[in-house]
Amino acid sequence: MSEVNASNPIQYTIKNEPFYQPVGDEVELYESAYATKMPVMLKGPTGCGKSRFVEYMAWKLGKPLITVACNEDMTASDLVGRFLIDINGTRWQDGPLTVAARIGAICYLDEVVEARQDTTIVIHPLTDHRRVLPLDKKGELVEAHPDFQLVISYNPGYQSMMKDLKQSTKQRFGGFKFDYPKAEIEAEIIAKEAGIELSIAEKLVQIAQRSRNLKGHGLDEGISTRLLVYAGQLIAKGVPAKQACRVALVTPLTDDVDIWDTLMTAVDTFF
Ligand code: ADP
Repeated sequence: MSEVNASNPIQYTIKNEPFYQPVGDEVELYESAYATKMPVMLKGPTGCGKSRFVEYMAWKLGKPLITVACNEDMTASDLVGRFLIDINGTRWQDGPLTVAARIGAICYLDEVVEARQDTTIVIHPLTDHRRVLPLDKKGELVEAHPDFQLVISYNPGYQSMMKDLKQSTKQRFGGFKFDYPKAEIEAEIIAKEAGIELSIAEKLVQIAQRSRNLKGHGLDEGISTRLLVYAGQLIAKGVPAKQACRVALVTPLTDDVDIWDTLMTAVDTFF
């Protein structure tokens, strides 16, 4: 994990406005949630715009953003910090959550359900009225900066029950439900992000919608908005649409030959 530190908070601010196309009242609602510093959970399938939304909100609110991609090997120390040994002896290195709490950043724990439960527990004292983070190993109690906010994302779809968040964790957050945007909006997003004509973006979205209908029937997840952007970017570079779809939409999605064929047939219908 790359080093994070509290000495230069500016590095975590987002300088340029990220392109985010609102799909409902999420921007206003998030502003209200931020005003109360309510911890927020973003639920939805992978690649549907959750991370982009947080980036946009951090920019809009003018707050630093520290993002942590969670994984099953992650320990509490990866979030909170640890002692490091170097030639000068031992020194404490704050983890990203600690830095965010100190500088008043929005801390975005992406796919938090991937992390082990003992890791998830460390966020609890930050998510209630205490707003503190105990650094047990260092013997320090960090009081969260007034601007600090915790945001987590998770995809309720493919997680097994074993990996679901505990109720005691869930019930510390306000929830924002995300899904792939409506077809017209999604096509606009793809056209803008990839720099392609709207008519091509519309076809890509239709292919994605077919794949999304296969969810639970051979596919764990349908084609995400993110993959559609990839396909659009290849097309914008001059790659023929069919090849672009094969590389960006179909091949990453499935290892099953039959499903692969079904999806490629859908591609053939449109391109
Ligand atoms: P998630 O965090 O849900 O996995 P991302 O936020 O990374 O997904 O979204 C994937 C990509 O989809 C983004 O990089 C962006 O190109 C595009 N995207 C999805 N939804 C939107 C949106 N509402 N506005 C702008 N871009 C979007």
